[in-house]
Amino acid sequence: MTSADRNTGILALNAGSSSLKVALFPAEGDEPLVTGQADRIGPEGTLKLKDASGAELTVAGGDLTSHAGALAAIIATVKGAFPGLRMASVGHRVVHGGLDYAEPVTVTEAVLAKLAELEPFAPLHQPHNIAGIRAAMAAFPGVPQVACFDTAFHRGQPFVNDTFAIPHRYYEKGVRRYGFHGLSYDYVTSELERIAPHLMAGRVVVAHLGNGASMCAIYKGRSVASSMGFSALDGLPMGTRCGQIDPGVLLYMLDREHLDTAQIRQILYNESGLLGLSGGLSNDMRTLEEADSAQSHRAIDYFVFRVQRELGAMAAVMGGIDALVFCGGIGENSRVIRRRVCERLGWMGIEIDHGRNAANATVLSSEFSRTTVMIVTTREDLVIARAARAAAGINEGVAA
Ligand code: ADP
Repeated sequence: MTSADRNTGILALNAGSSSLKVALFPAEGDEPLVTGQADRIGPEGTLKLKDASGAELTVAGGDLTSHAGALAAIIATVKGAFPGLRMASVGHRVVHGGLDYAEPVTVTEAVLAKLAELEPFAPLHQPHNIAGIRAAMAAFPGVPQVACFDTAFHRGQPFVNDTFAIPHRYYEKGVRRYGFHGLSYDYVTSELERIAPHLMAGRVVVAHLGNGASMCAIYKGRSVASSMGFSALDGLPMGTRCGQIDPGVLLYMLDREHLDTAQIRQILYNESGLLGLSGGLSNDMRTLEEADSAQSHRAIDYFVFRVQRELGAMAAVMGGIDALVFCGGIGENSRVIRRRVCERLGWMGIEIDHGRNAANATVLSSEFSRTTVMIVTTREDLVIARAARAAAGINEGVAA
């Protein structure tokens, strides 16, 4: 196929442990026809989908107890809203591409086998991503399924950022600092390339601050350091994840508290971060900002401290910084966090204009700032859709 037709759809899927996010794109253009998600997949499952105008679609009944059932309900709803639609390809967010995949790949059984081998590296995500691919393969036989990896953007990082200082045999086994949020960094990079190519040619730090949070140092368009490492736990504190931690703490939990790995996993993934710091108040930055209490200050102060610290480290690694880009729910919306992160960074050439910051403007830096500070609204769904379009042989008539 060389030209897009009106009845062609591209599906972008993002399967989590109990959720399935979906965006249906036309053959051309950046705006989805349908977006939505199934949540709490299981006995209590829900599904909400809306069209391009924001109107909710009447969901075709379905079994929301499994990813396959949820996908079937999504497809039935979409077919009802767009009769005659032909799916050209389906793109999937996959958390781990291991050492092999630095680019999206069209899924075959051999690829699926490789992705399954990576399950031990991302046990909370990879099996669900694979289940989502299998469900889509069954629903759309013969349609290309394209895996887009959160790790891919960081492949090719220098050894010193890729390794831990533990016996080298672990590195050879694949115990490395893969880095995540790659689809978001990929999008931000492509957007900077479009709107500010001179910045992309230099030293950029992107702060993806959402419920999951990480930062990436991008030198001449390539990832050279990331705050997330072997798992999605490392680096910045997140909604409920701990971020950087001294491994001695884990030994303490094992030896002194006799916790097992399931209990420790539960603490590190689900009870830490902003939630843990705020003494259980909230994992949600907006709620914490509104709370304005001793507990919320504890969480916000630590979050800001860690972002600043990472920023300094990344600028040092690149020998300076030309642009700082905020994205993710917090980065795109929280004036308070952006202001506080940028405070006292004049020595790094960072100075924001408070009016622009308050207005959530695209460029936040003041005219005196040596470093450009920006917000880019990240679009992981679009990165997936673009890869899926490419696999279907659709030539995009829009900026890539
Ligand atoms: P995810 O990683 O799940 O995709 P998001 O990128 O949607 O998460 O980010 C969610 C976070 O963004 C939450 O902590 C939420 O409180 C925060 N957030 C969204 N809007 C605002 C706002 N106006 N002010 C402060 N925080 C906000």
